[in-house]
Amino acid sequence: MSASPLSEKKLDRPRTDRAFSLRPENDLFLLTCGHLEIPAVAFSERPLDDLWSRTTITTTVAVLRRGEAITLVDCGYASATCEDPYRELGVFHAAMLGLTPKATRSIVVQLADAGIAASQVTTIVATHLHLDHIGAFSDFPNAELVVEEREYEAFRAGKNPGYNQKDREALARAASRITTWSAEERWMGTADALRDGFDVHGDGRVRLVGLPGHTQSSSAALLDGRLLHVGDAAFQAWEYRKRRASVYGALTAYDRAGYRAGLVALGAFEDACITHGIAVVTSHDREQWSALASDDEPS
Ligand SMILES: [Zn+2]
Repeated sequence: MSASPLSEKKLDRPRTDRAFSLRPENDLFLLTCGHLEIPAVAFSERPLDDLWSRTTITTTVAVLRRGEAITLVDCGYASATCEDPYRELGVFHAAMLGLTPKATRSIVVQLADAGIAASQVTTIVATHLHLDHIGAFSDFPNAELVVEEREYEAFRAGKNPGYNQKDREALARAASRITTWSAEERWMGTADALRDGFDVHGDGRVRLVGLPGHTQSSSAALLDGRLLHVGDAAFQAWEYRKRRASVYGALTAYDRAGYRAGLVALGAFEDACITHGIAVVTSHDREQWSALASDDEPS
């Protein structure tokens, strides 16, 4: 990627506090694969104060309309997991995540409620290949999965406990629908994301940049130059605002130093975003999701 920054003039956009509404009536909107109750200590800014309480997290999916075709960034848990998490994940794993059986939590059901058929989803961009991000790939038979090539290799080799054997089998069966791209280097800043990110559709609407650390080669997606979905490069916004990892973020990072470097990069990026009118969203920060999407709980 080129190191030369875009001119401020080119990047100039109106300053805005609340960037835009990401509701289903728009071309770009957010869904969450449920609201899960997990031990608060995992993501707390003050973990010792939150040893025994629980907190709510989202599993955030970005939806982009391109005419009739739909692109998703991540797709949440499989509908089978939403219907019966105990059977699919085991009782302990499901209980830790606060995953109770709830079919309406699945993204395919929520899209149908918004008038979008599963067959319209033609592209799913994976920020990384953990089960809460790509488990639902099998729910979308026409979708191509776009993933960073080293992430795909790590997934196939099972190098990280967050990768799921059932997902590995599902992706192996659908190998003809998987497209890889190569993050040349770690993402460094605004200009890289806006200009040099991998252009998924060739129209500049979805650009991908490498943001490794959480997994071997996790990445972020910039949609319409307006929304940067960073997956699990940070679990909560406070982590990059304070440049400090949460307990869970540090413990589960494939590369802890890389995860921290990502927080620093995102902190700087958010400062620039305020000027350029770009919103940042992580996968699991409930407050961020509520501010950008809706305060309503999915039914
Ligand atoms: Zn996740």
